[in-house]
Amino acid sequence: MDRRSFLKNSALGGTAAAATTLAAPAYAQGNRTLTMVTSVPDGFAVFDDAAVNFAENVNAMSGGELTIEKKAAGQLVGAFEVFDAVSSGQADMYHSADYYFGGQHPGLYFFTAVPFGATGGEMASWYYHGGGKELHHEVGEIFGLKSFICGNTGHQPGGWFNKEINTAADLQGLKFRMPGLGGLALGRTGASVQNVPGGEIYQALASGAIDGAEWIGPFADERLGFQEICEFYYTGGMHEPGSALTCGVNLDVFNELSPAHQAIIETAAAATHQWSLSQSNYNNGAALERLKAQGVKVLEFSDEIWDAFGTAAAEALDEFMDDELFARIRASQEAAVAATYAWTSVSDGVYTAQRGRVRAG
Ligand code: CA
Repeated sequence: MDRRSFLKNSALGGTAAAATTLAAPAYAQGNRTLTMVTSVPDGFAVFDDAAVNFAENVNAMSGGELTIEKKAAGQLVGAFEVFDAVSSGQADMYHSADYYFGGQHPGLYFFTAVPFGATGGEMASWYYHGGGKELHHEVGEIFGLKSFICGNTGHQPGGWFNKEINTAADLQGLKFRMPGLGGLALGRTGASVQNVPGGEIYQALASGAIDGAEWIGPFADERLGFQEICEFYYTGGMHEPGSALTCGVNLDVFNELSPAHQAIIETAAAATHQWSLSQSNYNNGAALERLKAQGVKVLEFSDEIWDAFGTAAAEALDEFMDDELFARIRASQEAAVAATYAWTSVSDGVYTAQRGRVRAG
């Protein structure tokens, strides 16, 4: 039965037609350009790649109805001003790392990474199946934002140093760039921790303003040329085991979008999370080999250093436990990581170790 004959033959036809007429004009119609401010310069590997991928996804999925106009760090607002700019309505959305905004709310740390927290895969488990997305929306809405994770760097190395770090004493007084809760933890080991935007790290290292820095990983770090300044690169960092990036949309702007366009934003962000995580995991191994070929000495932290990190990270996390939402987000993420690891440790963990042993790679 086609729609016309259904309405003609239905006693409810008149009511259904009236309801359809009333519902139609609730959302803004037509094409829309959304301004998206970011925290890095154009062309920065991984970070800006994810922002570009997201914008392309949104434009393609909406058939050109939604266009994202990306503004690099400093173009409209500074790298660390994007959160406030979108919260206040100065821009429609931001693409950044939410741990830069832990000062606005400490719960935001968990939506990038916390020390000894979730890997990239564990972040996805928590976010899409363990309540993470709902908590991200809850903390975002305090600031008038609708937030979605939108990129993931995968595991991040300990970073670049101009000397070997063999004992906890070697961290004393070290001027080191590390943001987020990882940086707060490192500060508790005696290092002098500074937060420097990604676009300014090279200059800070070259000028001697800092002794060392972490950024993202071999693929992204190589592009910035840190190997020209620092001799030592430590893999296996404690601070960012799988850092998510975030697209935060002004809540009024988001609510004006049609349900279809809202679904496109959410689905495009999820697609970018997966695309970005696999970009880093695919490219980092080859990039690390290139760095070694350029003379970089690749090392791992000792157990003594890891133990110092563990104590400092627990203290840094406990510092915020008076905040009810922080405590709830922490409990939720830690439960999801434990639940995920209960399976991956006896499945992927056993398999990849045995594959490496049997096939030597
Ligand atoms: Ca980092």
